[in-house]
Amino acid sequence: MFEIKNKIPPSSTVLINSLAIKKKSLGFQVYNLSAGEPIIPTHPLVIQGAEQALRTGKTHYAPTMGIPELRASASGWMNRMYQTNYSADQTLVTCGGKFGLYALCRTLLGVGDEGIIIAPYWVSYPSLIEMTGARVKVIQTTEQSGWKITPDQLRLAITSRTKIIFFNNACNPTGAIYSRDQIYELLTVAKEKNVLFISDEVYSGLTYDGEFVSAGSFPEFSENVVVIQSVSKHFAMTGWRVGLVFGDARLLTILGDLQSQSTTGTSTISQWAAVTAFQNAEQIIDSVKNEMKLRRDALSTILEQKFGKKFSSPSGLYLLVSLADLGVKEINSNAWCQKVLEEANVALVPGSAFGVEAYVRFSFGEKESELVAAVEALVEYLKK
Ligand code: PLP
Repeated sequence: MFEIKNKIPPSSTVLINSLAIKKKSLGFQVYNLSAGEPIIPTHPLVIQGAEQALRTGKTHYAPTMGIPELRASASGWMNRMYQTNYSADQTLVTCGGKFGLYALCRTLLGVGDEGIIIAPYWVSYPSLIEMTGARVKVIQTTEQSGWKITPDQLRLAITSRTKIIFFNNACNPTGAIYSRDQIYELLTVAKEKNVLFISDEVYSGLTYDGEFVSAGSFPEFSENVVVIQSVSKHFAMTGWRVGLVFGDARLLTILGDLQSQSTTGTSTISQWAAVTAFQNAEQIIDSVKNEMKLRRDALSTILEQKFGKKFSSPSGLYLLVSLADLGVKEINSNAWCQKVLEEANVALVPGSAFGVEAYVRFSFGEKESELVAAVEALVEYLKK
């Protein structure tokens, strides 16, 4: 066996999803509420865009920063939707939003540095930072505070070693959405302390209640902000692997160089499909969003019927629910989720994966019948 020099833990959501898929393949009826994606077909217009690319020979290497048509249509969409002012030069195409985040960490962090994340956080943030040798600093939030940080909490967490903050709005797994004033105050602190504010906005199109504000829409902070976007969630295109980074053109060129020596950029066919998606963005996002809102409401309703409490989320694809609200005494969410998958065939993600104990995440990306059946199976299990 070769000596292993670098080993990182697998993503816990991918892990639990794989376990659920494995159980299914063994013939079990598994209710999988762990996946982080809208389970609906990619829109026919996008499929047509990909077919057209295939038929017209767009099957070769693309420029490493992304095809100009995608850089232009994606920045045009951001500017139209969220009042930003990005040019095509300030737009980089990556292999999903995840590689954009990876490239930023790889470029901006090293041993001795710190990156701030906000708990509950998306499962990959700690590893993305730690892979560079930098340290993770976690700011904890609570359900009582609406799962949001205050400017004072941010100020206190920043040290002379802090280089970046990962800000996830709208948030996976809590669904929290920050207001314009709240973002302004956080940006003020980040600028004052010279910390790069990386705003992960991959769920921006799946906002059901309240207004979504992009951190990229404040001209006075433009040098301190990088925005991450993706076609994965609001276009239901997770498998196409197209993400975007918006920000300072010089920084993006450096990230592009990293791509040129690593991934060479994402699939050319996917990039052309994404151009079609952005050209028809309003129509496609509305259809995904409306369907996901129906599913969110269906999950909220059945949970309320069974557990007598209202659970909801203003955005995204998830409900983060406390075990206590499910009448469960266990606080080790990982142990509980494993038991529930083994014994009730329901796959949920433990709160511990997001840095918060005694909570579990239900995804409502699945179709309504699956959501209802999952909750019913869970209730039967809890009666035992
Ligand atoms: N950021 C957050 C908060 C996510 O939940 C995800 C995916 O689950 C991503 C980024 C990465 O998405 P993708 O790489 O599919 O664009």
